[in-house]
Amino acid sequence: MQQAAAVREFLSEGSLGPWIDGRFVVHGGDWIECVDPGTGEPFARFRPADGKVVNQGVETAAKAFRKRPWARASPAERARVLRRLAELAGTHRKTLAEIECLDTGRTLAQALADIAHFAQTLAYYADLAERSPQRIPIESEAAKAYTFDAPAGVCGVIIPWNFPIVLLGWNIAPALAAGNAVVVKPAEEASLSSLYIARLAAEAGLPAGVLNIVPGEGETTGAALAAHPCLARMSFTGSTEVGRSVAAACGRNLVPTKLELGGKGAAVVLDIDGPATVKALVRALTMNAGQVCCTATRWIIHRSLFDAFVEQARERLRAVRIGYWSDLKTRMGPLISQRQRDRVLSLISQSLDDGATALLWDGLLEGQPGFFVRPALLTGPAENIAANEEIFGPVAYLLPFDSEDEAVDLVHRSDYGLANSVWSSDADKATALGERLECGTVWINTQNFLMPGIPYLGIRNSGNGGGSLGANVLSEYMRRTSITRL
Ligand code: NAD
Repeated sequence: MQQAAAVREFLSEGSLGPWIDGRFVVHGGDWIECVDPGTGEPFARFRPADGKVVNQGVETAAKAFRKRPWARASPAERARVLRRLAELAGTHRKTLAEIECLDTGRTLAQALADIAHFAQTLAYYADLAERSPQRIPIESEAAKAYTFDAPAGVCGVIIPWNFPIVLLGWNIAPALAAGNAVVVKPAEEASLSSLYIARLAAEAGLPAGVLNIVPGEGETTGAALAAHPCLARMSFTGSTEVGRSVAAACGRNLVPTKLELGGKGAAVVLDIDGPATVKALVRALTMNAGQVCCTATRWIIHRSLFDAFVEQARERLRAVRIGYWSDLKTRMGPLISQRQRDRVLSLISQSLDDGATALLWDGLLEGQPGFFVRPALLTGPAENIAANEEIFGPVAYLLPFDSEDEAVDLVHRSDYGLANSVWSSDADKATALGERLECGTVWINTQNFLMPGIPYLGIRNSGNGGGSLGANVLSEYMRRTSITRL
C-alpha cells in the first residue's frame, strides 16, 4: 500500500528510537522491526532503549523537573501547551492514524476515534488542573492548617499495545497537567505513535526533557524503568502477571504504583431480546479484534432469551467485514502478532477439548496474509478455560442463567474485576444488579463507554483501584504536604 508522504518521512527517520531531551537519541545496538499485522511484513524499525538509555531518560527527566520550567509554570500555562498538543494531534490525525493502523492493524475509524479521545483527555486534565486549588484549607480550631499539592517528580509509565494512543493520553495528560516530568515505555509491538506524539509535544511547546519515550522489550527496557530508584510514581497498564512484577520492583524502592490490568468482563442480559443489545455486544467483541481489556467476553444470558440471542449474534458476527485497514468498509482488523494469534487459537482449541461447544467458529481468514482470525462464540461448563482466562481476541463464552443470584455468581467466578455490563428494558432493575457486582466499572445498557471525567477502574486481578480518566488521577500524580502553623 502506498504510504502518505508524511508517514514515509517519519518512518524513514534513520534515528527512530528513544526520544530523550526533545530529540531522538542515536545509539548503537539492535533494531526492533515493526511488523504490519495486516500483512505480516516489516515496514519500519526503531532502536530500543537499553538499561543505560533508560537511565539517561530518567536522569534527563529528573534534571528537567529540577530546573522546573514545567513544574513551576502555572496550571494555565501548562494547560495552554496541552491544548496545543491536542490541537496538533487533530491537525496531524491522518498521518498519526495511518502510522497507528500500520503498527497495530486497527481500522482507520478506530485510530481516528483514539486520536479524538486522546485530545479530549488532554483537554479534560488541562481544564481540571486549572480549576483545582493547590492549597486546600483544613477546618481546625487548634491551628491554621492546609494541604499543599505539588507535582510528584519523575513519573514512569508502561503501556501495552492494544490502545497505544489512548493509554498514552490517559497517563501523560494528568501527569503533565500536574507539572511532572514523564518517562514512557510503550509496548515493543506498537511504539511508533508514542514517538510521533512526543515530536508533536515538542512542537506544542513542551520543554525538552519533560516527556521522554524509551521504547523496547518488556524484560529489558520495561524492567529497567520499573526498577529505577529515582521515580516518584509508576503507572503500569498491561497483564496481571507483569503488573505483579512491576509492582514488586517499584515496591522495593517504595514508589507508589498504579496498576491497570487485564479483565474478563461479563455482559448480563436480563430481559432484552432486542437487536440493539446483540448489536452492541457484537460491536464490542469485534472492536480492535477483541483486544480490549474491558470488552464483555462472557455473555451471561437469561435462559429464555439464549437461543434467539445466539442466532442473532451468529448472523451479525458472520456479517462483520474483516480486512485490511485501508479498505474503509473494514470493521475488524487482524490481531497484533503471530504470537497473539497462536495464543487465541490455542485457547479456543483447549476450550473445545475441555468440553465447550462452538456456537460459531469459522477459523482463520483464508487467502489473507497477516494475523486475522474470525470471531468465535463458545458455550459449555462454567469452569472452562475460555470462560475464565482473558483471551484477548474476538471470542465470547456464553452461559445461560435462570435467576439473578445465579447470574451474579457466574460473574464472580472470574478473579478479574474490571468492567461488566447489565442489560434490561428496566434500567433501575439493571442498576440494582450492577451495584451487586464486585468490579471497578459497571455499564447499564451500554458497553465500553469511556469518557474523561468518568472513572474507569479495576479491582482484584484487574488493578489496585486508582483507575483512569477520573479527577482523582490528577491528585495521584501530585505529592501532598500538610502545613500547620499556630
Ligand atoms: P503485557 O503485560 O505483556 O505488557 C504490557 C507492557 O509491559 C508492555 O510495554 C511490555 O513491554 C511491558 N513489560 C513486559 N514485561 C515487563 C517486565 N518484566 N517489566 C516491565 N515491563 C514489562 O501486556 P500486553 O500483552 O502488552 O497487553 C495486554 C494486557 O493489557 C491485557 O491483559 C489487557 O487486559 C491489559 N490492559 C488493561 C487496561 C486497563 O486499563 N485495565 C487497558 C489496556 C490493556
